[in-house]
Amino acid sequence: MRPHSSEDKQIRLLQLYPRDMNIYGDYGNALVLMRRIQWYGFTPVMLTYNPGDPFPEAPDIVIGGGGQDSGQDRIQQDLLGLGERLRGLAEAGTPMLMVCGLYQLFGHFFETRGGSRISGIGVLDVETYGTDNRLIGNVVSESPDFGQIIGYENHSGQTYLGPTAKALAEVVVGQGNNERDNHEGARYRNVLGSYLHGALLPKNPAIADFLISTAVQRKFGQTLGALQAPQSAPESLPRLTELARQTASSR
Ligand code: GLN
Repeated sequence: MRPHSSEDKQIRLLQLYPRDMNIYGDYGNALVLMRRIQWYGFTPVMLTYNPGDPFPEAPDIVIGGGGQDSGQDRIQQDLLGLGERLRGLAEAGTPMLMVCGLYQLFGHFFETRGGSRISGIGVLDVETYGTDNRLIGNVVSESPDFGQIIGYENHSGQTYLGPTAKALAEVVVGQGNNERDNHEGARYRNVLGSYLHGALLPKNPAIADFLISTAVQRKFGQTLGALQAPQSAPESLPRLTELARQTASSR
């Protein structure tokens, strides 16, 4: 029998709504996590959930991206159905990263310019209001937990933190959550919300490592060892590239 090694230890990465919520390179977040999980000596398993799918069992990390308002409309009812489950995972300490459109819907609501409210699932204590002003451009921010965080924003919804959400970072260049305060993103327990695309994780590996180390600690009670990046291009890269292409073309 093969000796038990950390190679046998799976980290299950769940991507929420990749068909509808996955723009400005957000799929890069999934690719970075898959690769770094492997480089830390664990076996990454990519799970996806689109509206109507059975919810994958026991995800260790949950991520979600941004989308057009139309994409948000398409997933909204389904997401409300997952609310209790996702709130439970969040309370239990599951690491999550939600970008832009899903960051907004992980809050309490998105109120459109016309005044109608799209309900969110309230994992994060934030509220979002549609505006006529689109906040677009590169962002530089400073986070107490992760140091400098950089990325690209493009959103017309503006988000405000309630008392139990803390800002992920403070904006140095760009806008972040809104035009009034300097906050970018939000954090509750191990759930991170951010407006930053780019994708976020290739530009900010400290956040990827936070998600991975939290998952590894919770699942195996282990701290992360050294990153073992191969010198040459990893052979499974074409496979990941193919996955990215399929996701892009199925939209
Ligand atoms: N539609 C939302 C907004 O513009 C989200 C956009 C996004 O995910 N990039 O505020």
